[in-house]
Amino acid sequence: MSASRKGEAAGLREVTRLIGHYRGAAPGSMLICVAGLHGNEPAGIIALQRVFDWLDATRPAFRGECIGLVGSVSAAARGVRFIDEDINRLWFADRIDAIRAGTLDGQEAKEQEELLEHILDALDRSAEPASLLDLHTTSGSAAPFAIIGDSPRNRALAEHIPVPVVLGLVGEIAGTLTDYAHTMGAATLAFEGGRHDDPGSVDRHEAAVLAALGAAGNLIEGDSPQVEAARLTLTRASTAIPRFLDVRYRHEIDEADGFSMRPGFASFQAVEAGQLLARDRHGDIVAPVGGRVLLPLYQSLGTDGFFIVQPV
Ligand SMILES: [Zn+2]
Repeated sequence: MSASRKGEAAGLREVTRLIGHYRGAAPGSMLICVAGLHGNEPAGIIALQRVFDWLDATRPAFRGECIGLVGSVSAAARGVRFIDEDINRLWFADRIDAIRAGTLDGQEAKEQEELLEHILDALDRSAEPASLLDLHTTSGSAAPFAIIGDSPRNRALAEHIPVPVVLGLVGEIAGTLTDYAHTMGAATLAFEGGRHDDPGSVDRHEAAVLAALGAAGNLIEGDSPQVEAARLTLTRASTAIPRFLDVRYRHEIDEADGFSMRPGFASFQAVEAGQLLARDRHGDIVAPVGGRVLLPLYQSLGTDGFFIVQPV
């Protein structure tokens, strides 16, 4: 591994599929944490390395099991979002059948096959309903937030992770890992920790994992000051933003559009209807409705220019 490899300066160790695995003496539920599904988002991987280091070193009272997985090892090693295809848009039943039958080629098919195997094994092993936390970062600045499909089990998980929760994105973006794992019976939540290169994103991901260990009952909040501290970190990082928001508009783009977001927008920034947000080859792009802008695109790869959300 070369010393100049991307991410190393930020504390990223060698990237392997299984970041860590921890099992407590008492029975309990399974928490599956995935990071680096997009390879240019190392913060979640570093955070999971830290959490497993802490578990191994301190061996706290723990029920059940937790595993940490890298979504795309090859993309993470190169520090790129993906090699050929966005692996977080590929979790469709027919594709998964093809992968399990070994009839699909390509780097992402290989990555997806290995990741799928770990996840299905973990779900199989879990005597109680499992949870899956998927860690991401964004190209623009953002307070931490969660994305869930609206179901009682996902909401119950989100209750323990005190950040704004965006509903309705799951319906806009098809083929996500969280969507698939939910159909396999897990409570799922995607956590957006902040900007890709913000060191604080690592801290917020670490806090989200600890809060999820509390939510899953692996660590009991009263027994673990770390869980309480994590919840406080998350609460403080996202004050003054409504707890539940819904997507009101999605600006979909393709490469030919030449989409360019106006500089300076951060997720959850308030915008008014008619406000200039971006430009493309057709001209100005204004907000069609008022609300708060979400996930403004400041990188070249992606299919969504921005979203507008409003409080539920
Ligand atoms: Zn991502």
